[in-house]
Amino acid sequence: MSELRRIPVPAKDPVTGIPAAAPKVGFVSLGCPKALVDSEQILTQLRAEGYDTAKTYEGADLVIVNTCGFIDAAVQESLDAIGEAIAANGKVIVTGCLGAKKDAAGDDIIMKIHPKVLAVTGPHAVGEVMNSVHLHLPKPHEPFFDLVPAQGIKLTPKHYAYLKISEGCNHRCSFCIIPSMRGDLVSRPIADLMLEAENLFKAGVKELLVISQDTSAYGVDVKFRSGFWNGRPVKTHMTQLVEALGQLARQYGAWVRLHYVYPYPHVDQVIPMMTGENILPYLDIPLQHAHPDVLKRMKRPASGEKNLDRIQAWRAMNPDLVIRSTFIAGFPGETEEEFEYLLDFLKEAQIDRLGCFAYSPVEGATANEIANPVPEEVREERRARVMLLQEEISAKRLQAKIGKTVRVLIDEVGAKEAIGRSAADAPEIDGVVHIKRSLVPGKKLVVGEFADVVITSADAHDLWASVA
Ligand code: SF4
Repeated sequence: MSELRRIPVPAKDPVTGIPAAAPKVGFVSLGCPKALVDSEQILTQLRAEGYDTAKTYEGADLVIVNTCGFIDAAVQESLDAIGEAIAANGKVIVTGCLGAKKDAAGDDIIMKIHPKVLAVTGPHAVGEVMNSVHLHLPKPHEPFFDLVPAQGIKLTPKHYAYLKISEGCNHRCSFCIIPSMRGDLVSRPIADLMLEAENLFKAGVKELLVISQDTSAYGVDVKFRSGFWNGRPVKTHMTQLVEALGQLARQYGAWVRLHYVYPYPHVDQVIPMMTGENILPYLDIPLQHAHPDVLKRMKRPASGEKNLDRIQAWRAMNPDLVIRSTFIAGFPGETEEEFEYLLDFLKEAQIDRLGCFAYSPVEGATANEIANPVPEEVREERRARVMLLQEEISAKRLQAKIGKTVRVLIDEVGAKEAIGRSAADAPEIDGVVHIKRSLVPGKKLVVGEFADVVITSADAHDLWASVA
């Protein structure tokens, strides 16, 4: 029996008295004192969560190897330790400096030499290591103490959930006080997001709604550093996150919907991923206005001039794309001419789903100091004009769907009809599909399941359908 020789870890905690049935993790700690501290933190977290430690490879349910990558001898010692753990146990997670090292070809050294390892992280990655442990050796469930399910407590129905990918915002839009309340952008580690998404899918979520203040900026604050998911490096970047979520959603037959996407250049790479199978062809992109001078006064991150071209290019790339946006009418200093420019933009852009708010002077917003505020009745009147125009646009776009077969996710089943949502309908903010209940056996509509329906009629907001 091979001993885990490098760090003596008691098999059982005499204080907490963790039961023998607790999952056991073997730990090999190599390298400098900084690596040792990482090991201590991981072991502390393992203990706090109810994992036990094993003295031998064979007695462990999984082995973590904390590596060193400083000099050649240390690299070799780390690679040998990983090989030994794989041979004796088979389930191995690698962390530490060697985990972050690449060879001359830019490939991950550990994965190349030991492709059987379950996950690899760099140093100082307690959270990512724990995520991998949870994935491959689920946390012991203590029914008397552990009252929180793996996916956390959710206020949404069981079949959809929000995934918040970051907090705060680096922009300073003059009408908004969010940065003063929540601070600058802080992106959540990609491994945490992927684990949360997986737990949600496992718990029955069929639609995952990605939210933040600025989804396109995900990872800017950490310089798009690489995290690890399923043993592979994944950048903290919107495109890689969407790609990884799409792959995960495919395994669970689920949808991913993107909200609060700003039209940064890399959004062009996301549009082709929106095939509708897992990443929905739905872009919630808050434009707020179209006139360049108003956008300048608003201090918006993306200028308006190119937005029309971008929208047209995206639709050419992906004709199924549904665009949702929000606008502000009557922003301080907005002239009638600037407002009409917005109406012309809306006529051209043919936004599918649109919300419009009359400007509201939030306390603390710098926009309140802008000259020539628009009187309240004019703000309201302009908002009404936008909504009237949008009603026409929306009705026309929804009419065009009549006769088409669309996939919906069922939200409710009533006595006479069921309510579903298609790729074009985010919960709470967009329209719904009213579906005539089918009496045909085998075509029963079930909450949280998908159904294919044929659109039979439409108004300016909702669709009506029967089961296909
Ligand atoms: S409105 Fe502007 S400042 Fe406010 S959260 Fe959005 S991008 Fe950031």
